[in-house]
Amino acid sequence: MEFCKGCGVSCCSHYYIPLSAVDVFLISTRGWDDFLFIEEKGKDDGNCFKIKGKNYALRMKKRVQGGCVFMNENGSYCCGIERCKPSVCAAYPFKRKDGKIVMMENRVCPAGRKPTKRDLKEAEGVLRNYEYEWGLHRRMAARWNGSFLSRHGWPELFIPYAMVQMNLWKIAKMLGRVEK
Ligand code: SF4
Ligand code: SF4
Repeated sequence: MEFCKGCGVSCCSHYYIPLSAVDVFLISTRGWDDFLFIEEKGKDDGNCFKIKGKNYALRMKKRVQGGCVFMNENGSYCCGIERCKPSVCAAYPFKRKDGKIVMMENRVCPAGRKPTKRDLKEAEGVLRNYEYEWGLHRRMAARWNGSFLSRHGWPELFIPYAMVQMNLWKIAKMLGRVEK
C-alpha cells in the first residue's frame, strides 16, 4: 500500500501475525514452508478452530531475534513475500469501523500523516479482500468445528483439512460456482 513507508520493522516485528487458511494456502502454494505455528487460545475471537473443545489459531512464525520469518534481513527489512503477504499485513494500519475506514488507534506504525483520498481508496480494496478471505476462513473453521475431526482429531490436522477445502473452493471458483 502506498501509505506504508516501508519502515519494514515496526509492524513486522511487533505483532504475531494472524493467518487465515487462505493466507496459508497462498503462501504454501508459492513454495514456502515452515512459516506457521498453531497457537492455543483461551477465548475464541470468532476465527478459531476447535479440538476437543479447545480453541486454536494459525500464526506466522517469528525468528529468534523477534521479526517475522519473512522480513528481509539484508538491511532493507522489507517483506520477503510481498506478492502473497497475509491480508492482515496488506491492510495494516487500516481497519473498518462503523462502516468507515480509519487508522487503528493502537498502531505501532510510524507513518503519521493523515491518509489521503487515494490512501483510503486503496485501503478499501485491501480491506474488502481481508474481509472476504477471513469470511472464508471462518466458514471453513465452523465446518471443521461441527465435524468428527474437531471432536477426535489433533491441531495439526486442521492444516491439510483447510488445504483440501481451499482446493475444492478453487475448483468451484474455476467452474463459476462461487462469487469472486
Ligand atoms: S509477511 Fe511480510 S508484511 Fe507481514 S509481517 Fe511478515 S515481513 Fe511483514
Ligand atoms: S509499521 Fe507502518 S510504515 Fe512500517 S512497514 Fe508497517 S505499515 Fe509500513
